[in-house]
Amino acid sequence: MSRRDFIWLVSATTATTTLSGTLAGCATDPVTGQQRVMLMSEADEIAIDKQHAPHQFSNDYGRVRDDGLQRYLTQVGNDITRVSHRPHMPYAFHAVNANHVNAYTFPGGTMACTRGILVDMDNEAALAGLLGHEAGHVNARHTARRQTQAMIASLVLGGVAIAAAQSERLSGYSNMIYGLGAVGATALLASYSRANEREADALGLEYMVNAGHNPQGMVDLMAMLQGLSERDPNALELMFSTHPMSSERFQTAQRETRSRYGDHLNRRTSQERYMDHTANLRRLKPAIKAQQSGESDMARNRYAPAEQKFAQSLRHAPNDYPGLVLMAQALAAQGKHREAQSFLERAKTAYPEEGKALHLSGINQLALNRPESALAEFNRYARVLPGNPNTLFLQGVAHESMQNARAASDYYARYLQLASGTPQAQYARQRLQQWR
Ligand SMILES: [Zn+2]
Repeated sequence: MSRRDFIWLVSATTATTTLSGTLAGCATDPVTGQQRVMLMSEADEIAIDKQHAPHQFSNDYGRVRDDGLQRYLTQVGNDITRVSHRPHMPYAFHAVNANHVNAYTFPGGTMACTRGILVDMDNEAALAGLLGHEAGHVNARHTARRQTQAMIASLVLGGVAIAAAQSERLSGYSNMIYGLGAVGATALLASYSRANEREADALGLEYMVNAGHNPQGMVDLMAMLQGLSERDPNALELMFSTHPMSSERFQTAQRETRSRYGDHLNRRTSQERYMDHTANLRRLKPAIKAQQSGESDMARNRYAPAEQKFAQSLRHAPNDYPGLVLMAQALAAQGKHREAQSFLERAKTAYPEEGKALHLSGINQLALNRPESALAEFNRYARVLPGNPNTLFLQGVAHESMQNARAASDYYARYLQLASGTPQAQYARQRLQQWR
């Protein structure tokens, strides 16, 4: 398999799915009480969470294995959404293993904070500000308001088309592995307007204060993000692409905190409780910082320095799943597929229920000309994380590499029922014509 083939296969690793359902008409805006056109029903919103959240969490290296931390997030989050305008939504709060500083929500209320942002906050009030802001997006129905379903479907598929176009231009393929989180579901989350942000901030402050928190937490959160963006803009790129930051947001939070919510500034910020519940994560902070730095190198195609930083992170935390996966990516990017495989094996052992290492391992096995092993990995991936049409394509490639044209054409045909307009679809169609 040539390097170019490999680039192209890797671009097929992101989950893409189209949405089904009916368009909703006029609905009452839960925040203002006014009638307005909602392009999606509540059932549609919840269906988006179900369909996309598992793939996004997998891109973010899965949920953090720390039941105490997950319970804590759920408790802080539930207290906030209970006093929101849509308390009946099926909210869920997750800490995920990604290193970059980010938080996001799906329209039905499935939210995630990365470990990168959790280790940079230092009190519960700031966490409440963050979850309040995300709850603001859900309550103001920002996704439902701005998108028709057709738009969302094309946006999600568009993410893959962009990924494919980039892979044509890139000389190194690892940007495509590395960039997985930047396409697919993230594209769905990635376009709040400044007006949306303003509204989410205002609702977030209202909810967190009504839930009993000190409004200073919102100011602390924004001060932390602004400070970070000056010191380390790369770590924040994704956060700011989903939630555009501005000095106006910061000033508004400061003003509102002092005026409208000034009476609550004597409340506790619950620093100790936050520190207790994030203690395990905080012990990983040196590894997380080393990985953030290595990820910046990867984004610039600097694989050897990235490898060194991932090795450093693994000395600190030898069985860290993201560390092992990132190390494998840095090695594979340098053509060291055999070494990469050993790290992927360790990653699979560390997090057997997670999809990302399986998918990458399948691709790496193809690079090692071991299509049987590759197929086994893709099959396992399809069981762990069903609903990614690209898996069908990769299963087809593995069968084709084993000279099994009949099985390959089955998979290519099934892939073509779900995807069109991608280079992979073009390839699959050509193959089917040749074998007819
Ligand atoms: Zn936002």
